[in-house]
Amino acid sequence: MKTWVLNMFDNINDLYQQVILDHCKQPRNFRELPACTCSAQGFNPLCGDNLKLFLTLDGDVIREAAFTGSGCCISKASASLLTDFVKGKTKADVEKMFAQVHDMVTTGKVAGDVGKLAVFAGVYKYPARVKCAILAWHAVMGALKGEQKPVSTENEQA
Ligand code: ZN
Repeated sequence: MKTWVLNMFDNINDLYQQVILDHCKQPRNFRELPACTCSAQGFNPLCGDNLKLFLTLDGDVIREAAFTGSGCCISKASASLLTDFVKGKTKADVEKMFAQVHDMVTTGKVAGDVGKLAVFAGVYKYPARVKCAILAWHAVMGALKGEQKPVSTENEQA
């Protein structure tokens, strides 16, 4: 997997691959949240990524976010960066960022301020990996909507 990530970012940016490898090897917020207010299971059957996302909401604001599960480097790094990003954000902020990240990983175009999440811009060149990068985002949207069933990347486009 390490070799694959390095190849993938060969022509893009050394910093991007370093960020992804770092979050893959030492995922942030990788734990359960026993006192979470909502959670959702996300599954990407194409790759076998299986993540569970936990959120603690205070009104409309996400106070705490964490995840567990197993998956490839891209899916874990994406969930790690996502759980860092969503803390302190509102549901509306997360919905807006979901749309921006979705556009970015499917077209490679970075619109607006996506911060560190820009490291996934190169993923659009690898269609099979787009779902790995977007899985945690489907899971966070599922958690916010109160989905009871696991969220699969195969139920929606990309
Ligand atoms: Zn994957």
